[in-house]
Amino acid sequence: MLLLFRLMTAIHLKGLTKKFGETVAVNNIDLDIEAGDLFFLLGPSGCGKTTLLRMLAGFIDPTAGSVLFGEKNVTHTPPNKRNTGMVFQSYALWPHMTVIENVAYGLKIRNINSTERKKQALRALEVVQMGHLAERKPNELSGGQQQRVALARAIVVEPDVLLLDEPLSNLDAKLRLEMRCEIRRICSTLGITTVYVTHDQKEALSIADKMAILKDGEVHQIGTPNEIYRSPKSKFVAEFIGETNFVAASPVSNGLETPLGILSCNSQVNGETSICSIRPEAIVVQDRPAPANGFSGTCSETIYLGEVAQHQVKMNDDLVLRVTEVNPSHIGKIGDQMHLYVDPKDVVPLTK
Ligand code: ATP
Repeated sequence: MLLLFRLMTAIHLKGLTKKFGETVAVNNIDLDIEAGDLFFLLGPSGCGKTTLLRMLAGFIDPTAGSVLFGEKNVTHTPPNKRNTGMVFQSYALWPHMTVIENVAYGLKIRNINSTERKKQALRALEVVQMGHLAERKPNELSGGQQQRVALARAIVVEPDVLLLDEPLSNLDAKLRLEMRCEIRRICSTLGITTVYVTHDQKEALSIADKMAILKDGEVHQIGTPNEIYRSPKSKFVAEFIGETNFVAASPVSNGLETPLGILSCNSQVNGETSICSIRPEAIVVQDRPAPANGFSGTCSETIYLGEVAQHQVKMNDDLVLRVTEVNPSHIGKIGDQMHLYVDPKDVVPLTK
């Protein structure tokens, strides 16, 4: 019952495809999710995240390919035989049942006796810090509390795999922040392999072990949040995750030739490189021109936010850089000359 040391389950997708008529929602995806990972599926609307999650749950039959939980091929196993727990965007709690009855329901249909049901449901409620409200009805709870109950209901059956479909999107900004840390804590405590679908890149960056970025039914990149943010492999990934500046670039012997001058970069450049990505916070504002990897422009806008200042710096008629100055010491004025520097490790060469 909610063991801390449990056998964790890896997930393997092989050539997974789903077509709805002419629409290819998921296109030949190969993906390995390590046992115990909190893994995010992230991508723009319509990229196939929900379809993929629903194939993991067994609600949608793949057109081709297979789903393995550990060694077990579950591609054609019905949802109730897969031992997954699922939390949806809407909490879908039974309004006439108390919190504990809601959580215990999944155990009831597994024929667990009532004393044991109560004990296990209470344990699950304690994991989500809701034990003290076990006797309330759902309409006597806040949105965040209801979402915790939905989570308790999903984990009480000790699923091999936990599937979360935009679980925080109905909550306000503050609760979302709180609950994402809770989800991280609960998944780590229980060691359940979890697949989490979201639109919210901050949610993914802040708590994911790994994430896959999807577009048009295909996986564009898989990596840790740090790898995805710092080393995007394509223009799409670079602009989907976070803000960035794209600058035209062509390879030369000592780096990249750009409208900012020759920039050194630490990443591998190849003949295909045609742009580079430079994050706004990677551009450092300096008092004087830098001897290398430096460039200067005219400040065309400054927004002072206390801990950071966001500048727009005009480099030429066609190029305005976004620059985020951390801990700004003086407030620049529109029209000021700004001397900027970027470290070679922060210049990411890309193809268009
Ligand atoms: P969102 O973030 O907007 O929820 P998503 O990434 O979850 O989008 P899916 O819901 O998986 O995307 O949809 C992927 C594609 O498959 C879309 O083009 C969608 O219109 C299509 N699609 C999904 N379900 C069906 C269906 N039952 N019948 C026909 N087309 C569908």
